[in-house]
Amino acid sequence: MKRKYIIPMCIISFILVITVFLSLLFLNYVQNLIKETTSKNLGEIAKQDASRLENVIQEHVRILETIVNQAKQEGIKQEEVLFKIFNNNSGKEEFSRIGILHKDGNTVTNDGINVDLSEDVEYFFSTDTVQISKSRVSKINQEEINIYSQKLSIENQEIVVLLVIETDKYEEMFSQKIYNGNAREYLITSSGEILANSKGEKNGENIYAELEKVNKEQEKNKNYIREMQDSISKKIDGQIVYKYQGQNLYIAYENMEEENWVLVVITQGNIIAEELNHLLQIILVISIIILIIVFVVTTYIILSNISKKESLYRLAYVDPVTKLGNYNYFVEKGKEYLERKTQDNKYVIVVDIDKFKAFNNRYGHKIGDKLLSKIGNILKLILPEETLICRLANDLFALVVITDKRAEKIANLIDESLTNIQIDNIEYKIYISIGIYEVKENNDNIIELVDKALVAHKMVKGNYSIRYNVFEQKEEEKELKEHEIERTMEKALENQEFKIYYQPKISIKNEKILGAESLVRWEKEGKIIPPNEFIPIFEKNYFIIELDKYVFEETCKDIAKWKKEYKEVPLISVNVSKENFINPEFIEEYIKIAKKYNIRPEEIELEITERGAVKENINIINKIKKAGFIVSIDDFGTGYSSLSLLQDLTIDIIKIDREFIKQINFKDKSKNIVEYIILMAKKLNLKTVAEGVEKKEEVEYLKELGCDLIQGYYYFKPLTKLEFEEILIKTDK
Ligand code: C2E
Ligand code: MG
Ligand code: MG
Repeated sequence: MKRKYIIPMCIISFILVITVFLSLLFLNYVQNLIKETTSKNLGEIAKQDASRLENVIQEHVRILETIVNQAKQEGIKQEEVLFKIFNNNSGKEEFSRIGILHKDGNTVTNDGINVDLSEDVEYFFSTDTVQISKSRVSKINQEEINIYSQKLSIENQEIVVLLVIETDKYEEMFSQKIYNGNAREYLITSSGEILANSKGEKNGENIYAELEKVNKEQEKNKNYIREMQDSISKKIDGQIVYKYQGQNLYIAYENMEEENWVLVVITQGNIIAEELNHLLQIILVISIIILIIVFVVTTYIILSNISKKESLYRLAYVDPVTKLGNYNYFVEKGKEYLERKTQDNKYVIVVDIDKFKAFNNRYGHKIGDKLLSKIGNILKLILPEETLICRLANDLFALVVITDKRAEKIANLIDESLTNIQIDNIEYKIYISIGIYEVKENNDNIIELVDKALVAHKMVKGNYSIRYNVFEQKEEEKELKEHEIERTMEKALENQEFKIYYQPKISIKNEKILGAESLVRWEKEGKIIPPNEFIPIFEKNYFIIELDKYVFEETCKDIAKWKKEYKEVPLISVNVSKENFINPEFIEEYIKIAKKYNIRPEEIELEITERGAVKENINIINKIKKAGFIVSIDDFGTGYSSLSLLQDLTIDIIKIDREFIKQINFKDKSKNIVEYIILMAKKLNLKTVAEGVEKKEEVEYLKELGCDLIQGYYYFKPLTKLEFEEILIKTDK
């Protein structure tokens, strides 16, 4: 069972056990209460009955003594007279008859019957005081009887007066109705002999022997019985309770003052109370059953709720492909990780598979999914146990790693483990890129941190030689700037925020302005943004196609205007990024624009960067040339164009990158590359323009080498249209 189930189950089980325990405690309490009250009641009954019986016996004794005393005083010994005295006594109804026993055993009764009691003579004549016999069977009518007897001595002649009472008489005196008639009462001698009982059972047996007989097997019960026997022999009253046939058997015993007789009351308890007890037990059992049912049902509901919750949780938080957490999970859990206090380093890391789409297309989505899940497993295996590993999107994993190692170490470990991945016994080579953000103390927004790691990642995505990058604030600022540029570029074009500047190109021979380069500036909110801040972005997002066309058209407009205003207009060059080449209509569109302003292609120079002058673009460059445009290779020497490529290209001008001008070594001129470029250009019959010329000695050296044109701050910085026109006016004169 899962751990989360255990707590609710334990709580419910605990409640159940406590409830059952309390119920049993309550039952026990009630049972004890019943036991106590039953014992108490029984004791009371025994006491009452014993005292009642005692009174009756005393009355019987008194009657006998009265008769005997009267006879003694009056010296009566004739049987008839004695019978008369008896008949006159108001208590005579208690007795069934009176008898006179003679020494020879012959007994005469008042109903005229003679009975032989010779075997009992010794007993009856043994004392002068009143004796009460044990129960015996009447020789006259076989009834069970007891005999009250007293010796009467008159004139040296001894007789015994016998008053016969039917044992039933005692039995009538017992509390017949107690406990719904469920109780039995016994009048016994202190040695246990039963004198009378309430159930009409046989008298004369020994009660202890009887009780022990029925408790043959129960040694414990026998001990109780012996305890009772012991108490009675010491004339102590009391009660015993023991289990008999599954029920409590209560026995109360009360010693009577006279005759060593004892009254014993035996009952299986107060039937009503016992029934109540029984009912209580049933109610309790039913309650426990209901409780168990409630327990089972609640458990079921809780468990099914848990599993429902779990499946909802899975939907909301688990990535079905890798079984890792998803974006939601990362956001939620990530917060916890950020709050965690630790001496170690905390990193938010994004891991991205390069060209995953291509992988999917090549090997199919099934293998693609397996790759993702494998990557998840590998990450789990190699990273510290408490690392948070989630898949945020397609092929993007995000981690929060807490470790004492440096970021580089972790990045290398991830990179090495994810280069070759085995799926179904086939090894796949993949490239990944990693962005790392080192978490600072005040960082609390996990989404922001992932964004920062993504910024770092962006710098290395697709770069096969550098696989990871640790976030730096500068990079983020750059990223933000780029974002801002992209957000506003289209509006800027509409609002004509892009302005054209012209930088003159000077002939080295006669210092005449023979050309000018059209350079774009972005005037944004009163500030001028230089092109190197936005051109590379526009090249990435292809907005450069729009911008170049705009610059070209604006330049054409200006040339058309100048053509009308001035005798001679220098050759104006416009930059064309290689991104334009993906537009198959590119040349036609440019020709059309030029035509719109009555400008022939020959009147415009197009600068193509050396990076654009590659093999794949030979055709299009040649097409540009064929269309009539003057073509120059911009930033020559920085790209990769080879000599053979230059041979294949039909171009007119080479613009030597300003880096080569900067690098000119005036002390050892033999090593200057610029010399070789100019030499080569001359061989190929191409004109040369030196860019970024700032010093006089550079001009002189370039003149020495035979460079054609100079474009640099030495002569002019890029000028606004107005500034440029002023120069045109001057030179036009
Ligand atoms: P580029 O085509 O090589 O343009 C020459 C750059 O060198 C210009 O920078 C110019 O201001 C700078 N420069 C000229 N002389 C000197 C000098 O003596 N010293 C120094 N330090 N710099 C000098 P800018 O205007 O910032 O343009 C930078 C680049 O932006 C251009 O390089 C060009 O590649 C690109 N660019 C400018 N306008 C456009 C455009 O309309 N379309 C396209 N596609 N690219 C453009
Ligand atoms: Mg240029
Ligand atoms: Mg250039």
